Amino acid sequence: TNVKYYSFTNVFILVLSLLFKFIYTHWLQGKVALITGGASGIGESTARLFSRHGAKVVIADIQDNLGLSVCKDLSPTSASFVHCDVTNEKEVENAVNLAVATHGKLDIMFNNAGIAGEAKPHILDNDKTEFERVLNVNVVGAFLGTKHAARVMIPAGNGSIITTASVCSTVGGGASHAYTSSKHAVVGLARNAAVELGKYGIRVNCVSPYLVATPLAKDLFKLDDDGVSGVYSNLKGKVLNAEDVAEAALYLAGDESKYVSGHNLLVDGGFTVVNPSFG
Ligand code: NAD
Repeated sequence: TNVKYYSFTNVFILVLSLLFKFIYTHWLQGKVALITGGASGIGESTARLFSRHGAKVVIADIQDNLGLSVCKDLSPTSASFVHCDVTNEKEVENAVNLAVATHGKLDIMFNNAGIAGEAKPHILDNDKTEFERVLNVNVVGAFLGTKHAARVMIPAGNGSIITTASVCSTVGGGASHAYTSSKHAVVGLARNAAVELGKYGIRVNCVSPYLVATPLAKDLFKLDDDGVSGVYSNLKGKVLNAEDVAEAALYLAGDESKYVSGHNLLVDGGFTVVNPSFG
């Protein structure tokens, strides 16, 4: 009888833990997400995490080969790729329409595509063309993504729109004038859209990382992986990875954050709140 009792308990615990694991790892079950800049870095990690959590993911990027290879890695029924330059309204419109045509709806829009622009700290070295190029991708891109996601989310009466801003949305220095301006701007856009779209049940938020060793950051600061992890961190012994930013986006995407809107979620280890005199 003892043996029978133990085996029944073991099976019961096994079933319970499998059930728990399924629920815990399927926060986005049945949801559809469109991720711009999903071919690399933070967008790629988010595509992988969302897909692991049961979402259907559409990656929209200008790097077709990279985007397609990420999709190939994920299951073909759960991930697809669409070429989309976020500065081109027709292409953004098409990406949103494709997500809806393929999966019947759009629950999550992740406006993540972004560029750093030239690292020229002195304002007199900055030219207007480069300033406009950065604002075009980072701000106009986020605006078009928000607009076309809202177009299909309004009739559905539901949706979560997330934009990747940065610590540069909150503090100055460390990046180009264009980049810092663009990241402040997307937080303003998110707040305005959160106010306006709330009446349709749509939430709009930003996720704001500190430095992550992606191609963008390595280009900007001329750093390798070790270099990035060697840069100032407020959290001793911890390094921010793209996966950590994806976890924050997961929270904002899922129903666990159903009352969070107009928020800028900093993932910066306290970087923006440090008082240097405590150094
Ligand atoms: P990344 O270069 O690895 O990824 C950016 C992706 O955006 C690339 O796949 C690129 O092809 C795509 N992209 C660029 N221009 C595009 C366009 N016009 N249309 C469509 N896609 C385009 O860099 P990342 O670090 O993963 O950057 C993702 C976001 O995170 C950006 O908005 C960036 O500003 C932000 N961010 C990054 C860091 C960091 O340290 N890496 C910190 C704060 C914020």
